[in-house]
Amino acid sequence: MADKRDYYEVLGVSKNAGDDEIKKAYRKLAKQYHPDINKAPDAAEKFKEINEAYEVLSDSEKRQNYDQFGFAGVDGQGFSQGFGGAGFDDLGDIFSSFFGSGFGSARSSRRQTGPRRGDDKYMRMNVSFMDACFGKTETINLSVDETCTYCGGSGAASSSDIENCPTCHGSGTVISQQRTPFGVFQSQGVCPDCHGTGKKIKKVCPHCGGQGYNRKRVSVDVKIPAGISTGQQLRVSGKGERGENGGPNGDLFIEVVVLDHEQFVRSGKDILLEIPVSAVDATLGVSLDIPTIHGDVTMKIPAGTQDGARLRLKGKGVADLRGGRQGDQICTVRIKVDTKLSSKEKELYRELQKLQSRSGKESAWDKFRNMFS
Ligand SMILES: [Zn+2]
Ligand SMILES: [Zn+2]
Repeated sequence: MADKRDYYEVLGVSKNAGDDEIKKAYRKLAKQYHPDINKAPDAAEKFKEINEAYEVLSDSEKRQNYDQFGFAGVDGQGFSQGFGGAGFDDLGDIFSSFFGSGFGSARSSRRQTGPRRGDDKYMRMNVSFMDACFGKTETINLSVDETCTYCGGSGAASSSDIENCPTCHGSGTVISQQRTPFGVFQSQGVCPDCHGTGKKIKKVCPHCGGQGYNRKRVSVDVKIPAGISTGQQLRVSGKGERGENGGPNGDLFIEVVVLDHEQFVRSGKDILLEIPVSAVDATLGVSLDIPTIHGDVTMKIPAGTQDGARLRLKGKGVADLRGGRQGDQICTVRIKVDTKLSSKEKELYRELQKLQSRSGKESAWDKFRNMFS
């Protein structure tokens, strides 16, 4: 005790300081040296010293004893209360001005007592290529926690079976004291008996065992709209995680994955398809039966169609998700060179070859150029 500093010196006030001045000085120093804020190695020790000084100087009887007898006058009464009594209130004030409203966990624990909407749930669903094009209603089976219809979620057999929790007297929160080397800290926490609801149930609902909800296996019809694409989400309202304290369930979000097709490729609301066309057909033109998602259609390939040409079949694509114009099918021509020729075909090709080479005495370079012109 020999190196103990004078209490007035600790708070930096004169021996004639009034109560207000002492309180002001204490608040300023407590803020400065609170171990939660000040991480300096001696902050905790200083904080303890400040509290001890204020403990004595804020109490007129203790202060009088201290003034008269020094430390001996207050020793034995000891420094055990810490933030108890007035000290705690002061600190509460400090922290409400410091951290905004809500000291400690009081605010968050109060929030837990009210109804809370459940979290959303997410899942993925594979959708066949054609179902994505034309839409479908898919029935899925889910486990969902549904509010007990018998007790309405209260978990009690009847409303007269609900009483205020005797531990927290209905507040949902309890104040606990913790003894530390710096004194006794008070903190507010969720009531362990009622978990913050503030209620105690005398007789539990026989239909849900007091849980207030029942896990049910439900079938849900999910409407897949025509024109949906990979990555888009369907919302099934109220089929997410259960709410708390009577709050509604969250929603279920289903992310769609559209599966590939063997031939067709989606590009937004258009369908892409490569069509093989023989060199003769491309040269002379032809009508071909082309598969589309709506069934086969006859398409005219004009004479002289080049490899890579894109021919559009209007309205043969996918429905517009927002009700706009239906997409098209875009056919990309791939000219195929025949490799399995009959002897008759070979003969005709040779004749054609002769015919083309006889047309003028052009140089090799001219021939080359003409071929691509
Ligand atoms: Zn029930
Ligand atoms: Zn309670």
